[in-house]
Amino acid sequence: MTETVRTRVAIVGAGPAGLLLSHLLAAAGIESVVIDQRSRDQIEHTIRAGILEQGTVEVLDGLGAFSRARTVGQRHDGIELRFAGEGHRIDFAGLVGRGVWLYPQHEVLKDLIAARLAAGQDLRFGVTALRVEGVASDRPRVFATTADGDPLEIDAEFVVGADGSRSVVRTAVTGSSAGGYFREYPFAWFGILCEAPPSAHELIYSNSPNGFALISQRSATVQRMYFQCDPDVDPASYSEQQLWHELQSRVPGTTLNEGPIFQRDVLRFRSFVAHELRHGRAALVGDAAHTVPPTGAKGMNLAVADVIVLERALRALLLENDERLIDAYAPTALHRIWKAQHFSWWMTSMLHTTTDASDFDRLRQVGELRSVVESEAGRRYLAEAYTGWPLEGLA
Ligand SMILES: Cc1cc2nc3c(=O)[nH]c(=O)nc-3n(C[C@H](O)[C@H](O)[C@H](O)COP(=O)(O)OP(=O)(O)OC[C@H]3O[C@@H](n4cnc5c(N)ncnc54)[C@H](O)[C@@H]3O)c2cc1C
Repeated sequence: MTETVRTRVAIVGAGPAGLLLSHLLAAAGIESVVIDQRSRDQIEHTIRAGILEQGTVEVLDGLGAFSRARTVGQRHDGIELRFAGEGHRIDFAGLVGRGVWLYPQHEVLKDLIAARLAAGQDLRFGVTALRVEGVASDRPRVFATTADGDPLEIDAEFVVGADGSRSVVRTAVTGSSAGGYFREYPFAWFGILCEAPPSAHELIYSNSPNGFALISQRSATVQRMYFQCDPDVDPASYSEQQLWHELQSRVPGTTLNEGPIFQRDVLRFRSFVAHELRHGRAALVGDAAHTVPPTGAKGMNLAVADVIVLERALRALLLENDERLIDAYAPTALHRIWKAQHFSWWMTSMLHTTTDASDFDRLRQVGELRSVVESEAGRRYLAEAYTGWPLEGLA
């Protein structure tokens, strides 16, 4: 027997985008159903992004006591760019009066899930969307299957694809699962989590002749670090000693605090923007709509910005039957998406090395880094983009 659920908005994906959207819609009195193919435990324990823009934290403040970003997360008022043997601080607070918070994505998800379940709202884990039909009509429908293999259909007034980079909903919006602007990079990040106190007060983005490294942190006892690697490398192929050597050789001048490495992964780099973000009664948000390389820390923050624009449009459509904002959703969201794409590409190309780089390329790159750190305008641009352009105009 097929179970059919009727709701106003069907949201596929319980990542930051889908969960935040459901929370904001509920606050506006709009009912939704959220499904995710993963279990709650998987969602709450997958390590991903870790840097929240100031605007993202302000949006999460709307969860009230459920948001722990300000209490558990740590505010950072700057980062260091290191190259040619010297460190240069980018003083966010002094340059733009804003900061970022180190608060891992899975903790944000725990907060969002707790808030939704406490409000008694419909959130279903282990449910996989297979396809979406009828987006050109007033009643689009999501066809899904539950963890037990039973069919489930969601009959809604609007369908939102918040289902990440391998989005199923994208096919209903763009006509194909891959339709979009795409760029691949010849490197990836090798990421580790280790038990050791932070090696530096602030994040270090280091460009070295051996390649890029990011020295980051998760808490007073756990560090998150990355180094540039070949995209096809097997994470298990490095010994702990080799990993520490790779990292240490890329941050000359800093002695890294070493400790047991308890997670390692390889994160491939892609830039992608879907050709269409909305078709009829379906729209894409977050990684379903775009992906960015992680160097600019934009992925999760961009998902939040999309949601702010889409939620306002859905409010107008579903509460006032006003289609103007939903018609403006794609151009409004794309304005910020392409700025973030540029910033993420720029940070990536400025800080990473490629095996085919000539001496000219290498010296030009150092010239570019100097142009940024020695100019107040250059530092200010970086600070403005990294801490996030204001969300105020979007809401
Ligand atoms: C390993 C890794 C590390 C990252 N590190 C960083 C970082 O350091 N900084 C940064 O800014 N960004 C980082 N990102 C990107 C950031 O995590 C994403 O931009 C962010 O998660 C986007 O949120 P989202 O809600 O759009 O998508 P997601 O978080 O991907 O959520 C999509 C959800 O949809 C569900 N889903 C997918 N298909 C279906 C289906 N057919 N049916 C039902 N459910 C479905 C998935 O299970 C998932 O829970 C990282 C990403 C990865 C993968």
